[in-house]
Amino acid sequence: MTASSQSVEPFDLVIFGGTGDLAVRKLLPALFHRFLDGQIPASSRIVGIAREALDDAGYRAQLREALIGICDARQLDVFLQQVFYRPLDARKDEGWDDFAAFIGGQPEHIRVFYLSTSPELFVDICNRLGQYKLNQGASRVVLEKPIGRDLASANQINDAVGKVFDESQTFRIDHYLGKETVQNLLVLRFGNALFEPLWNAGHIDHVQITVAETLGVGHRGAYYDRAGALRDMVQNHMLQLLCMVAMEPPSSLAPDAVRDEKLKVLHSLKPIDDNNAAQLTVRGQYRAGVAEGASVPGYPEELGNNKSNTETFVALKAEIANWRWAGVPFYLRTGKRLPSRVSEIVVTFKPVPHSIFNADAGTLSQNRLVLRLQPDEGVKLWLTIKHPGPGGLRLRHVPLDMSFAEAFGVSQPDAYERLLLDVVRGNPTLFMRRDEVEAAWHWAGPILAAWADSGEAPRPYTSGSWGPSAAVALIERDGRTWNEDSE
Ligand code: NAP
Repeated sequence: MTASSQSVEPFDLVIFGGTGDLAVRKLLPALFHRFLDGQIPASSRIVGIAREALDDAGYRAQLREALIGICDARQLDVFLQQVFYRPLDARKDEGWDDFAAFIGGQPEHIRVFYLSTSPELFVDICNRLGQYKLNQGASRVVLEKPIGRDLASANQINDAVGKVFDESQTFRIDHYLGKETVQNLLVLRFGNALFEPLWNAGHIDHVQITVAETLGVGHRGAYYDRAGALRDMVQNHMLQLLCMVAMEPPSSLAPDAVRDEKLKVLHSLKPIDDNNAAQLTVRGQYRAGVAEGASVPGYPEELGNNKSNTETFVALKAEIANWRWAGVPFYLRTGKRLPSRVSEIVVTFKPVPHSIFNADAGTLSQNRLVLRLQPDEGVKLWLTIKHPGPGGLRLRHVPLDMSFAEAFGVSQPDAYERLLLDVVRGNPTLFMRRDEVEAAWHWAGPILAAWADSGEAPRPYTSGSWGPSAAVALIERDGRTWNEDSE
């Protein structure tokens, strides 16, 4: 066990949707890594649930194939002995008695029910868990995104789940909050005397948050077409990142202290609606082009040549109406089929008030703090220094560069590793409270409505480009540019 990993109480973790993409690609590898680190108590059980008719051996064989690349087979086989499978249909009675008896067999265990299914099943699953009294004692439920597609549907889900599980038992996951760099943002801001005095409209020029993907929608087109970039990325992940940058110092890291501060930020976002959406937002949809060296089809082709008004790209300018941030734009952009896969937060400081250097020394650049979430999690602080050597003084803009992997010599754990064990521990600091989800929808809803009211289609952009040219114009109108390091 590494110094940083603390043991947890024995638990049963049930994954509804245990054969699905998220479970196999993210959740089980995360649990396996924690197992390798000695953090999964020997009596703990991981239980996959889906409709497919499998037994424990069949499920283990599926997972073995998916996980074999992570580590040597001997350790994997030991881990898989703690993994079980129960075939269940969330909407049918059959099998639930047996499942309840299986879980009830270890009453002293913490129980985690991870709903990694389509959200339409959340209510059915919670109702059954309630019916079999599996919601009692040390039980928790984890809800995957998306929680609704607007405020009304989010409330419906939250109301229904809330009838079975108390808010303190409900963990709404946003895996961005489990990323090392996001954790580190808290430590950088509140563990150093350096930044916080400068962290306001007096010293910060603007903030950019980029979440760029190279992939298209692939086989998830049916899901994605009902969502789009604003619902899929901005309403949840990007607003959570914005909150972590913008919130006031919480009094402690106690769950509600942090979430109260994030909520205040969400409440302070200036509305974007019919009156200003055309100036403050740009939406796009990718067309055929080249991604990672290969020709790729456009979004309509991926949907089976269907015309769609769903955006696969969004750029917007948000503002926070409070004393700390008045007048500081937060530029957000996210999209599919962009030139590189990168997620980062860039805080650009104001220029120095007066230059004492001759014009031939070069130009002064603004200081920038770049927090890279992926790939290569790390932090760069761009400073101006003198180019070394004799002769005339020349200015150079260079980064103080800290790649976490290089600095600490280990690859960074996936966000799900931290978050899954936080659920077991009952620590909701990094999970979204119901009122946060509501406040985020409250802000995002009028943007979606304005787009629908405009009747305009998203602007086409070529796969492999940085989105429609209007997204460049959005920031250049203000005399600024998107951070070039990511491009
Ligand atoms: P998926 O690959 O379609 O998997 C869905 C799972 O649910 C399968 O195991 C499926 O197995 C099971 N299932 C479907 N109907 C069921 C029923 N009536 N009763 C019991 N089980 C049922 O979906 P996914 O990509 O893993 O996504 C799961 C959730 O996570 C979704 O809400 C998604 O939006 C969210 N999410 C996914 C990702 C990702 O990277 N994949 C990322 C973030 C969030 P059977 O058909 O055999 O029942």
